[in-house]
Amino acid sequence: MISLAERVKVVADSITLAVSAKANAMKKAGIDVVGFGAGEPDFDTPAFIKDAAKAALDKGQTKYTPTPCFPELKVAIAEKFNRENGLPYRPDQITTGTGGKHCLYMAFMALLNPGDEVIIPSPYWVSYPEQVKLAGGVNKIVRGEESNGFKITPDQLATAITPKTKVVVLNSPGNPAGHAYTPAELKALADVVVKHPSIVVFSDEIYEKLVYDGLQFVSFATLHPQLPEQTLTFNCHSKSFAMTGWRVGYVGGPKAIIDAINKLQSQMTSHITSFVQMPAAIALTDPRGAQSIESMRVEFEKRGRHMWERLSALPNVYCVRPQGAFYCFPNVSAYFGKSAEGIKITDAVSFAATLLEQSHVAVVPGNDSGFETHVRLSFATGMGQIDKGLDRIEGFLKKLG
Ligand code: PMP
Ligand code: GLU
Repeated sequence: MISLAERVKVVADSITLAVSAKANAMKKAGIDVVGFGAGEPDFDTPAFIKDAAKAALDKGQTKYTPTPCFPELKVAIAEKFNRENGLPYRPDQITTGTGGKHCLYMAFMALLNPGDEVIIPSPYWVSYPEQVKLAGGVNKIVRGEESNGFKITPDQLATAITPKTKVVVLNSPGNPAGHAYTPAELKALADVVVKHPSIVVFSDEIYEKLVYDGLQFVSFATLHPQLPEQTLTFNCHSKSFAMTGWRVGYVGGPKAIIDAINKLQSQMTSHITSFVQMPAAIALTDPRGAQSIESMRVEFEKRGRHMWERLSALPNVYCVRPQGAFYCFPNVSAYFGKSAEGIKITDAVSFAATLLEQSHVAVVPGNDSGFETHVRLSFATGMGQIDKGLDRIEGFLKKLG
């Protein structure tokens, strides 16, 4: 009898990936599913980036590269951080990884000792607490109240900090609620953090470009002169450049932590795929990169507004207006205790499962994000799909009465 490692038992499967896989399997079986599950742009990767990958292959960039990547990519990332974010990172303060997810995982592995506490505001992206568990850390969830737009307050943060706190995770604009802190709100959190110089902030800024209603994005580490030494800034190509499958993520931060991540990476994956490295650099430096991001952002903003308006018009559904990323996170708890075709809805999991089963709309239950009362809908899909899916949800809610 084979016995698996204990760590596998304490970790959950990724619900976001599971919902997408189920919806795709249903589609393959010929069912007309509307997929609001995947947090993945429906746009194609811009052509100039694909061309750069073809050129990299033709040039023979198919061999091992240095860990974690060619120097040119580190330079392009450092320059991007300097130019766009006002972050003074040098190339030796940059590392790359196999997507933003892998960067976060390596960073937790590089910093956490058993028992170290990690403060995670909820609702949170599903992978943070699981990665913390894998790295031996202890999750301290701090609830961002719906009434406060899902954002935590400086007082909540200060109260949650203990002598064991090692890391604070911040994700603005955020997954799963599309919530975003204003610069002033972030500064107030920064003022708490700088009183504790041994804490490292993981600022997950992968949705930085996707902000709406004129909201100003600011990088956390710019908010106090001490913060570049206390912050790891995470980003990736997945969302901004519609490059989810390419698996390119990157981190800037204190050299000692970056070196530690590289040491781990040299024994894990060596480096990111060779022929995606130069295209990843070109995406950041070619002006067409910024243009394609902006045209996607404009489209996402339209779709997000429309989805939010339609959700808000549904009876007994409340949805905070998303200000970033591409998610709406409505509260559907008014329907708990009701039944559709004999199936009783008890929480967001049974709501999402029954909606998929009976009305063929895929949404992600909020349970694994710390909110059993909410479901996540991605608006990274076309307007036609949004209307079709919302019509079906409307019909489903009528059945529940
Ligand atoms: N952080 C957040 C908040 C995310 O939503 C995701 C997933 N989209 C990631 C990190 C990881 O991104 P990647 O696909 O590059 O691994
Ligand atoms: N992060 C995206 C999401 O939340 C992609 C899936 C995942 O990696 O979790 O849907």
